[in-house]
Amino acid sequence: MTNNGPRRPRKVLIVGCGIAGPALALFLKRAGFAPVLFEADEQADDYAGLFLNLARNGMYVLQELGLDEEVRREGYAMHTMKMVSGKGKLLGVIGASGGEPQGYTVKRGALHQILREEARRQGIPLEYGKKLKAVEVNTAERVEISFENGGTASGDLLIGCDGIHSRVRRIVFPGAPEPAYTGLISFGGFLPDSRLPYDQGTQTMVFGKRAFFGYLTRQDGEVYWFGNLDYRGSPTRQDLQRIPQAEWHRTIRELYADDIAPLSGIVHGMEGEIGVYPIYDLPSLPEWHKKSVGLIGDALHATSPNAGQGASLALEDAIVLAKCLRDLPDQEQAFALFQQQRRDRVEQIVRYSRSIGRRKHATNPVQVFFRDLMMPLFLRRADKDAHRWMYEYRIDWEES
Ligand SMILES: Cc1cc2nc3c(=O)[nH]c(=O)nc-3n(C[C@H](O)[C@H](O)[C@H](O)COP(=O)(O)OP(=O)(O)OC[C@H]3O[C@@H](n4cnc5c(N)ncnc54)[C@H](O)[C@@H]3O)c2cc1C
Repeated sequence: MTNNGPRRPRKVLIVGCGIAGPALALFLKRAGFAPVLFEADEQADDYAGLFLNLARNGMYVLQELGLDEEVRREGYAMHTMKMVSGKGKLLGVIGASGGEPQGYTVKRGALHQILREEARRQGIPLEYGKKLKAVEVNTAERVEISFENGGTASGDLLIGCDGIHSRVRRIVFPGAPEPAYTGLISFGGFLPDSRLPYDQGTQTMVFGKRAFFGYLTRQDGEVYWFGNLDYRGSPTRQDLQRIPQAEWHRTIRELYADDIAPLSGIVHGMEGEIGVYPIYDLPSLPEWHKKSVGLIGDALHATSPNAGQGASLALEDAIVLAKCLRDLPDQEQAFALFQQQRRDRVEQIVRYSRSIGRRKHATNPVQVFFRDLMMPLFLRRADKDAHRWMYEYRIDWEES
């Protein structure tokens, strides 16, 4: 007997509710699927993480979701990036002061909240405290998962949006390469009421004597700052968190003691917690999908933060995968098309971001001297059109 009734919407299990997860859920719902989000954290933590740059290409995806205005309201419009040496010598400027910003710098928690609340508003189920434990891939159209605290779920598809240390990836692709440590750690924080003047759309990047430093000052005087430092070994985030905060405060003050004035003012003014992360990336996975399971975002191609593209790529993945699944009823064909459309771009950006990171490694006076000498030449080549391939990338939802 054939069933001529309407086909039930395909149920998509989405593991991870960071950036890729809720964005994918929103596009899939629009395409007629039934997405369900599972998040390991017990509850939303909108104060976790620091801040990130949502580049123009990421903003285009948010615009498609109708969420760009909220990010513009919350974020800091970034028009130019000014590069200076630790002594204050101007090394170069990227971008232009007028026109459309290069992107918006936004607190990570704010972006999470905007995406998550929209998913909730649209009635997409989101379950907290659901840390993925196991995956059973039955066929190309059936998958079952279980969680550490008990409970199971089954669906037509599973998409791992569970970040750089993805458990979906480790279970379903056991031979996949592990994330690689870039040799740098990142730390940073917020300094309210800094009394520094408003930066008017500029983010300053300082190639300091001992370490790299970036900052911006908002109209209300709040400073967002971060630093990158050469760090031996391959530390985990927990390893770095075990070092007492007082020690981080002391180390960071010493690092920037001989650089231009605002830096030591900012790090001395810092009272709250300093967030510290090791920087890993994941350059290339041989397999992107298996039967009914796929990956997107950092789970698939984590990039170091130097190019400010990780969140934007996660958003791009979400719209592209939803379109592929919408247009090709055969799920494996849809995954294959996604891979074909995305692989070159994401791998190029991961490589490019790593190459920027290499310029942050100078640790002795000779390296610092040559870096400061060569940087203006490098930046002159990187004029405003040099990054068009990265920023001017727009995906049309209507186009099949
Ligand atoms: C210090 C730093 C600075 C950065 N700066 C920038 C920047 O300026 N611009 C930029 O674009 N990007 C930046 N990034 C990268 C950006 O944060 C990531 O690329 C982006 O968050 C990827 O989104 P995602 O949804 O793939 O992963 P995530 O945002 O990591 O989300 C993964 C989610 O999965 C959940 N999860 C994990 N394991 C499980 C499990 N087993 N079961 C269920 N849920 C699970 C996590 O709790 C989390 O909510 C930066 C990253 C770091 C570390």
